[in-house]
Amino acid sequence: MSSQIDTVIQNVIYCTKCDLCKTRTNAVPGKGNVSSDVMFVGEAPGKNEDLRGEPFIGVAGKRLSAALEDAGISRDEVYITNTVKCRPPNNRVPSKLERETCQEHMKKEIEIIKPKIICVLGNTAFGSVLGGTEITKFRGKVGRKNNQLYFITIHPAATIYNQKLVDVLSGDIKKLFGLIRELKNGKKIAIDIEFSP
Ligand code: URA
Repeated sequence: MSSQIDTVIQNVIYCTKCDLCKTRTNAVPGKGNVSSDVMFVGEAPGKNEDLRGEPFIGVAGKRLSAALEDAGISRDEVYITNTVKCRPPNNRVPSKLERETCQEHMKKEIEIIKPKIICVLGNTAFGSVLGGTEITKFRGKVGRKNNQLYFITIHPAATIYNQKLVDVLSGDIKKLFGLIRELKNGKKIAIDIEFSP
């Protein structure tokens, strides 16, 4: 499994499939425990991630780590990645073409890690991964697409601008790990939304 993920990491690091490779400092492959039951998927790297080549290490990353810790989980236990692996200039939202071009890397990560559930962080990832819009209607819910389970929550960066959302994110992450415990115990969990393939 680790050699397979190493191949993905190398493919990401040297990827030139879209123009973001021209402006990036470093491509940002996913990072974490490849045996994790859960994969977190954000939008795209920001400035700090671009400089270090690691996902979620800036302010948003600290918010994600804090929510995980609040649920009794350390960052190293989970796998964290982004739908787009290179920073869009000035942190603009990645274009449809950039998202589509980059999809193959995340598909490979999913194939290797086989997470029991994928936690989609924020509206852009929600759109890219599940074709959804209006995360406020869907956050805290479980979705299924092509037999893969998804859990939908807000982007950790949203908690920086709105303190009330700190509890929302923490509550959702606790719910997510409650669901994972049920899945590990062989229980079926209720699906709130079926997404079309
Ligand atoms: N925001 C994201 O969506 N991903 C990161 O890696 C950092 C900030």
